Parts: sequence; C-alpha cells; structure tokens
Amino acid sequence: MSLAPGPQTLAIPGPSIIPDRVLRAMHRPSPNIYVGPLIDLTHSLIPDLKAVARTEHQATIYIGNGHAAWEASLANTHARGDLVLVPRTGTFADGWAEVARCMGIRTEMLDFGNRAAMDPAAIGQRLREDKAHEIKSVLCVHVDTSSSVRADLKAIRAEIDAAGHPALLHADCMASLGCDEMRMDDWGVDVAFAGCQKGLMTPAGMAFVFYNDRADRARDRSDLATFYWDWRPRTTPEIYFRYFQGTGPTHHLYGLREALDMLVHEEGVETAWARHGTLARALHAAFARWEDHDTPGAGLELNVRDPAIRSHAVTAVRLPEAGTKLRLWCEDEMGLTLGIGLGMAPHGDPAGDGFFRIGHMGHVSGHSMLGTLATIDAGLKALGVPHGSGALDAAAAVMAGTA
Ligand SMILES: *Cc1c(COP(=O)(O)O)cnc(C)c1O
Repeated sequence: MSLAPGPQTLAIPGPSIIPDRVLRAMHRPSPNIYVGPLIDLTHSLIPDLKAVARTEHQATIYIGNGHAAWEASLANTHARGDLVLVPRTGTFADGWAEVARCMGIRTEMLDFGNRAAMDPAAIGQRLREDKAHEIKSVLCVHVDTSSSVRADLKAIRAEIDAAGHPALLHADCMASLGCDEMRMDDWGVDVAFAGCQKGLMTPAGMAFVFYNDRADRARDRSDLATFYWDWRPRTTPEIYFRYFQGTGPTHHLYGLREALDMLVHEEGVETAWARHGTLARALHAAFARWEDHDTPGAGLELNVRDPAIRSHAVTAVRLPEAGTKLRLWCEDEMGLTLGIGLGMAPHGDPAGDGFFRIGHMGHVSGHSMLGTLATIDAGLKALGVPHGSGALDAAAAVMAGTA
C-alpha cells in the first residue's frame, strides 16, 4: 500500500514550492497594461528586487528563465571574440560557458571538480598571467545546483583586485538568491542574476539581472546586445512598455509582488537567509548520523564534505546504486518528490543512479524539512540501505536550538 495520497511535497532545486498566497494573487483576469494599477505594481518590484540582491545599482526584469539571464548578462557586457574565465564547480558552469560560446565569446574553464570550492587564489593567479587583460569577465556560479557547492564571491573579488585586473565579476545566483547570503555591492559583484522560480517562489518565467556602473560601461563596447536583450531601455523605461520590450508577464508580476511581500517586507531577507541556514544545518546533522554506521562501502554521504561551502538551498547526495531507487520510493510510497542527480556521471552511465538532490529553497519550514528527512529515513529502512541511527533526533535538536 502506498502512503502517497494526501499533501505532496516538492523538494527539487527549482522550480520550488509556490506558496498558496502567490497562486491566489495570480488568479485574476488580465489587467490593462497601458494604464492602471499594474504600472505602479511593476515600479514597486524594482527596489524590492534590489533589496534581495543587496544592491543600490540597477535591476532589470526579462521574460525568461535562467538561460535568458545568462544570455542577457553576457550580451550587455561583451563583444564577439571576448575571452571569459569560467571557474567550474559543477555542471551549471558548463551550461553557462556553452551559452557564451554560442554567442561568439571565447571561454576558458578552470575546473575544480564536483565536490570542492573554487580556489580564489587560482583565479587570481590566472588573472596575473593575463598581462594583456584579454579576460573580460570571470563567470562564477554562486551555488552550483548540481553539486551544491557554494562559491566565496567576496574572496574571488579580493583576488581579482589584488591581481590589479579589470575583469568584471559575474555571479549566477539562480539557486542562491533569497536563500544563501548574497551581498552584491559589499562583495563587489558587477553583474548578478537569478530567476523567479527558486528562492523567489514564483512560477518560472521571469529572470532578473542586476548590474553596476562598471558593468554598464562594458555595455558601451558590447556588440551583442540586440534590441530585446539591451538592458538600458529596460532599466530606465521612458514608457511602461519598455520595461519588457513588449507585453509584460502580467500574472507573474502579481505573483512576484506577493512573494516579495513575504520575503522582503514580512520575514525580511536576512531572516530568510538565517532560516535557510538553520534548515540546512538540521539536514547536515541528520546526514552526519546516517553516514555513521559499521557497514563499510555502503556509501550514503553528502556530496560536499566541507560544511562551510555547502549551499543552504540545495543539497546533492551520493548513494551509490540506490540513489534513484530511494528517490522513486519517496515519491511513489510517500508523496515526496526529490531532485534527480545532475551532472555527476556521464549521460546514460548507470553510475548516475547513485545520486539525488534535495531542494530546500524558498517556501520551506522547519516542519516541512523534518518531513523530508523523516521520509528519507523511512526510505533508507524500506530499501535496506545501511545507515546510522538518531538522524531525526539530531535534526530536531538543531531546530530546537539545543544541538
Ligand atoms: C536553475 C539554474 C539555472 C538555469 O535556470 P533555467 O531557468 O532552468 O534556465 C542556471 N544556473 C543555476 C545555478 C541554476 O540553479
């Protein structure tokens, strides 16, 4: 008998759970897009988006997903033939670099594997070697959603400065915005972006690009920013229509307004970071107990060993041979949808079944995290996966503040 009927939980790293309030805000007829309340509502989103990214500079909204943000940010800051440096901690850097190459931008990868942090010193070293300043940008994924490794953007900026190199620092904050601490201006990030469907709890369909004056100066030499992608008319639209270069994403705007009310005005961005931090620590505590058992080689473990570089929004798990089985058991028997493993083994290789991911971004509470962990605990038991005991006690103690 399956125990799945009843409330379902989606614990994949994007799209994330959409709060009922956001769904209700979107359930309405189409508005007038030329005059009326939608205009002011759209204006009101910009300062709140900047508050989430912690920037006083510019914010633009594109109708699109993360891939659109990749293209928009590259188009406004590069000319065909430019070289960019791409430190890599997982598969999302590969995707970003591919988009760059398709636009005629040359890429140089700096691969740190799938489990370790980017080494800021190695980035600094490469920039020092680039005496002619051929490298125009360093493209850093803040949280790689496949490996769940988080980059230290502040340390990377410090290395770029110490090398005396003018490269722009771009940060892909798709998985981190609203979840992991992100301070664009304080950390010296020149271009940052995210979509609305992860930490911002809104159905996929909008992408946000934040940029500072240095990045906007690069716009002057760019020959890739075509009519639709050009960020300037969107940032200071002389008429409303220019915000989106066409019809706006009407219902998404209502949804985002509600989500930003929750995140910025009710909970507060820093409190939301702290909530994600506590939930992630509870998860880490549970895994530390599960990993602690006497059966050698059984191999359930968090992909990232160093807690200091683990994302607070997504967690990649290694469970050789049984990762897919556990994920399917949780879905079919319990109503919990976990994320597939991504980019950890070559496409089609059976080793790829040895991974899964847990999304804990956005609309996630203590009780939903405990439900997710308890469900995984049941799955380990049902499938006979060797595991240590006390995981749920350990997670509960973190949430209770007694750990
Ligand atoms: C989700 C994600 C993307 C891609 O977003 P899409 O909306 O699927 O195009 C890019 N980068 C990171 C880090 C992501 O988590």
